[in-house]
Amino acid sequence: MRRTVVLGTEIDAVSLSEATDRALNEMQRRRSAYVVTPNAEILLTARRDPALCAALRGAALSLCDGVGVQLAARILGDPIRERIPGVDFIRALLPHMDRAGGRVFLLGALPGVAERAARRLHEAFPALEIVGWQDGYYAPEEEPALVARINALSPELVIVCLGSPRQEIWMREHAAVLRVGLMAGLGGTLDLFAGRVRRAPRWMRRAGLEWLFRTMAEPRRIARAVRLPALLIAALQSRIGGKQRDG
Ligand code: UDP
Repeated sequence: MRRTVVLGTEIDAVSLSEATDRALNEMQRRRSAYVVTPNAEILLTARRDPALCAALRGAALSLCDGVGVQLAARILGDPIRERIPGVDFIRALLPHMDRAGGRVFLLGALPGVAERAARRLHEAFPALEIVGWQDGYYAPEEEPALVARINALSPELVIVCLGSPRQEIWMREHAAVLRVGLMAGLGGTLDLFAGRVRRAPRWMRRAGLEWLFRTMAEPRRIARAVRLPALLIAALQSRIGGKQRDG
């Protein structure tokens, strides 16, 4: 597996099937390893947030979620062939787990969303066991009870949708106390599974325009969209700076 570094964050240049194989493998090892799916915003935040940076570095698998990361890698001269949005990754992984009767815990999103996502997932993957769920707005004092509950359920997979950087930092901090197969930090995926938000049409996804669709659907995301060019500028600066040093 080739790991490349894009502005300080490690990204695994893998295909979707390599990513799922790796995830299934990690699940079997039951080390509470975790998967991250960095996009432009996460990468930029990691440059000035040491906790997020450490959390990304600790991931067993780091997927190139967004077109911004892919473009930045190209500018830096180490292209990543395949972009793997978190939702595509999980959609590829769950059928394998369904065949094996896998156990999944859902964490995150607004109250009621994870439960709706669980119902929908059960319809789509009847042999998959959604063993429990918890919304992402619980009080900090409820944390120990949550950890105990997850450990008692002993799932192969915990889907962690607490938004970034909370989800990445949560997974790193909990890797030592949780006894699960694998965790995956997947942003708004529970909202998608629950049917609360829609995915961009296929042509927009292919063109790398999912961010534009999401910004149109939720205009409060505009502050994030404008960070895409900021990432590309940072990549250019790094490339030019590196060249000057080399020369
Ligand atoms: N979320 C949560 N707890 C929090 C913050 C966010 O459960 O403290 C959830 C939010 O409800 C949403 C998901 O995290 O379902 C992803 O949030 P957002 O769309 O802001 O993040 P992104 O997908 O862009 O990382």
